[in-house]
Amino acid sequence: MSQKRDYYEVLGLSKGASESEIKKAYRKLAIKYHPDKNPDDSKAEEKFKEAAEAYEVLSNAEKKARYDQYGHAGMGQGFGGGGMNMDDIFSQFGDIFGGAFGGSFGGSRGRGGERVVKGSNLRVKMKMTLEDIANGVQKKIKVNKLVNADGVTFKSCSTCNGTGRITRMAQTFIGAMQTQSACNVCHGAGKMIDQKPTGADQNGLVRKEEVIEIEIPAGVEDGMQLNVRGKGNAGPFNGVPGDLIVVIEEVEHEELKRDGDNVHYEAFVSFMDAVLGESIEIPTLSGKVKIKIDAGTQSGKVLRLRGKGLPNVQGYGSGDLFAHINVWTPTKISKEEKVIIENLKKSENFQPKAGDKDKGFFKQMRDMFS
Ligand SMILES: [Zn+2]
Repeated sequence: MSQKRDYYEVLGLSKGASESEIKKAYRKLAIKYHPDKNPDDSKAEEKFKEAAEAYEVLSNAEKKARYDQYGHAGMGQGFGGGGMNMDDIFSQFGDIFGGAFGGSFGGSRGRGGERVVKGSNLRVKMKMTLEDIANGVQKKIKVNKLVNADGVTFKSCSTCNGTGRITRMAQTFIGAMQTQSACNVCHGAGKMIDQKPTGADQNGLVRKEEVIEIEIPAGVEDGMQLNVRGKGNAGPFNGVPGDLIVVIEEVEHEELKRDGDNVHYEAFVSFMDAVLGESIEIPTLSGKVKIKIDAGTQSGKVLRLRGKGLPNVQGYGSGDLFAHINVWTPTKISKEEKVIIENLKKSENFQPKAGDKDKGFFKQMRDMFS
């Protein structure tokens, strides 16, 4: 894989650039490298695409946050970013150059070929347990999506002769140029419906249930969106299908609490086990394991099980499991037990003498991570 340039560097900005700075920088580059100003210049086209991709990520708060945190790695695994085609780029122009330019400038392709109409995206929610997340899963999901109706046929649009575009000369901010806008009859598709089967909509599409198999990588988090390209609604007139967007919904675990790639478990041991030492069984995401409670363990002690957390979604190793040891205090005792405890109370050994070794939870956690 070729080394990708930093998105801020692409736009000539430094990290922390404001929304308006990002927009301004992209606008400048989009004009400079626009295909209409640089016909048949593949280097300019590369730069044009590179800038558009950088803008696409940095102008989206959610994608920008992910990029700021994880860099290009955060954009991988189907989480958006990358792979923009010219249509994506031009459709982004309405936002950048405003309505006045968006139409004509955005519609211009600078090269042959009809404009491809993209189908709409489908959105589904997927519930995942922590165990699923730990391993990654392959799931089959049923979606109700738009597909070409059986027997539908298309013909060339008579208004634009199948090109999808209407050409005229216009004065734009980069000088006089031939501008092309999408045909207002076929909306850029270059095609029209010829035979429309009953039940099909105006684009010749019908809803159909389909089972789609998707692969969810390990380590995903609640709210993450997985973009499965081309699995959304069919594009009208044999256009490009939209995407299937899978939104991850994490099901809360009954015993383990997630914190990023780490998981935490609250273990309760009896006073006797804390004094005498014992092995106890605790749950992990890969089944139960035994851990050793040393004799003389204080309540609040944290035991770390390396690698027993969740795999990092970008592939940077695995988190840990932290078992927090709590000494259980009985709430009801018998008369006999009370006598025994009263007797123990007299012993010097049972008086708290917390030293540096028995430091509290926060200090322990600080030490573990320093
Ligand atoms: Zn047309």
